Amino acid sequence: MKRSAASTAAEQLAALIRGSASTVALTGAGISVPSGIPDFRTPGEGIWSDVDPFEVASIDAFRRDPKRFWEFYRPRFSMLGDKRPNAAHEALATLETEGMLEAVITQNIDRLHRAAGTRDLIEVHGSIATSSCVACGRSYGLEEVDELFDARGIAVCDVCPGGLVKPDVVLFGEMLPVEAIERARSLATSADLMICVGSSLEVFPAAGLPELTLAHGGDIALITIGPTPYDRDAAVKLGGDVAAELPAVLAALADLD
Ligand code: ZN
Repeated sequence: MKRSAASTAAEQLAALIRGSASTVALTGAGISVPSGIPDFRTPGEGIWSDVDPFEVASIDAFRRDPKRFWEFYRPRFSMLGDKRPNAAHEALATLETEGMLEAVITQNIDRLHRAAGTRDLIEVHGSIATSSCVACGRSYGLEEVDELFDARGIAVCDVCPGGLVKPDVVLFGEMLPVEAIERARSLATSADLMICVGSSLEVFPAAGLPELTLAHGGDIALITIGPTPYDRDAAVKLGGDVAAELPAVLAALADLD
């Protein structure tokens, strides 16, 4: 897209939103970084720094060694449970409330979109909001899970003795939730505009969704630090802090009125 000197990237994105009949957002780890949640793929950061997540946070690890799994996952649970949404999550919720955003598709499991007030949320990697017994299916809320740990440090079901309780997040090696993926693909296919926020767009399924929007003649907007495979195809790219960029887009939208 040709940039006129007179309009900023935020203004360009505001104009795209205004001209779009159907806009969806696709978010990744970067939107939660300003909330204090490290992107686990950034080497040497946060609680992922001294473990290989593929080793401990996989479905095989959960089945093979639930004690070790929970040693890793339990502090992560309590860390995420304390986090609050930031201005970027709030801006997307505002866009939805004002009828300018259809839905948010997220790769994040941290519940922050829901906490910010987003109603139509597609969590393609699940959420820490609930955990379920793998034997009987009984569902537990985040705050209930802490009471399920036995003396070994393993979360077990209080209905069926010995039933292992697993977070309702997609672990490495697990299938993605079919319904969520189909909804995400359908939204991407019918969108006039997809706003990709805080995702490097390298990991499936997020990596393939912008392509669906482009293939049907829609536009892609990027709000992320660092390169993505879609940089050349994007109508506009905002490369600053997501918690500053999205409010700037809201302000530019208000100026269009
Ligand atoms: Zn059970």
